[in-house]
Amino acid sequence: MSYLCPVSTARDIRALSRDQIQEYFQSIGEPKFRAIQVYEWLWQKGAIDFNQMTNLSLSLREKLKEDFVINHIRVDEMQRSEDGTIKNAVQLYDGLVVESVLIPTDNRITACISSQVGCSLDCNFCATARLKRMRNLNPDEIYDQVVAIQNEAESFFGRPLTNIVFMGMGEPLMNYNNVIAAIEKITSPEGLGMSPRRITVSTVGLSKMIRKLADEDPKFKLALSLHSARDEVRNKIMSINLKNPVADLIDACQYWYEKTKSKVTLEYVVWRDINDSEEDIKALLKFCKQVPTKVNLIEYNPIDDGIFQQADFAAVEAYQLALQKIGTVATIRRSRGKDIDAACGQLANKNELLKDMNS
Ligand code: SAH
Repeated sequence: MSYLCPVSTARDIRALSRDQIQEYFQSIGEPKFRAIQVYEWLWQKGAIDFNQMTNLSLSLREKLKEDFVINHIRVDEMQRSEDGTIKNAVQLYDGLVVESVLIPTDNRITACISSQVGCSLDCNFCATARLKRMRNLNPDEIYDQVVAIQNEAESFFGRPLTNIVFMGMGEPLMNYNNVIAAIEKITSPEGLGMSPRRITVSTVGLSKMIRKLADEDPKFKLALSLHSARDEVRNKIMSINLKNPVADLIDACQYWYEKTKSKVTLEYVVWRDINDSEEDIKALLKFCKQVPTKVNLIEYNPIDDGIFQQADFAAVEAYQLALQKIGTVATIRRSRGKDIDAACGQLANKNELLKDMNS
């Protein structure tokens, strides 16, 4: 395949901690502070080449080039939607591709980023689910997507990035350690210094992993892609529910709230003849009465198979009213970036590189 670039065998300097970089400099007889300089270049200034590190001597830059590579992502293609949304096709060091999205609103700029190449889940309504899961993203590949979007926020909108959602390709809790490591870097003063409160990790609903995460005293938010609070419906549309039934999700979300005091956001699409009945609403109300939540009623983004269809607006409103009656905040959300396949569940829909990758 023509777009594949050679995999480098040299060590990726960005896989090293600051202490390890310090040890390296000591081992070649250089002062410790070089580590701070290099670390800043790598993580704050987003250097992609040792030549950019102008406060290091030329010979030291050459030495670094011999010993290391900088495996940086490359934005291969950028598409802009008529509503301002930007979608990046991002090439990784081994030629694989993921997508990330910048979503602008009046008071926010949100980065929607990927955590895996492809996805191993098979939610029937999601385009990404049709791709094989190729591999997990490294912490720096997750971090780099954020930096790329931050730069686009500044250059296209003159505003900083304000929020990050792990709602791109993949299941973040199936790439747990790397997602946590990336968030640490994104929030640390040595990285981007972003507030964890502005970061949301979205999960398909892995009850054990939600508990594990809750135990780590996370400061970021959690979203759960629920879509149905009835096992008989959820089993059919999201096979992960067979091993993570609704009762277990309720337990896990209660545990999350006990530990973090942060409400879980439920993501919920209402489809015609699938989950638009009174019984479906009742099941969700039962869920929300047991767990402190907020509900986002999100618009369905068709992925061209016709099986799933957005329910009538009246059905969505019926959900909203019922939730409001029991004191649960429910927001109806419109899609962004549909015209460029950048909306929820559409990533990978029409990307030729990704199709190649799976052929
Ligand atoms: N694996 C994680 C992260 C993906 S987030 C998760 O499942 O939460 C992507 C969000 O978009 C999820 O809530 C997913 O259920 C939703 N989604 C998937 N396909 C969609 C579609 N076609 N239209 C609207 N939302 C969709």
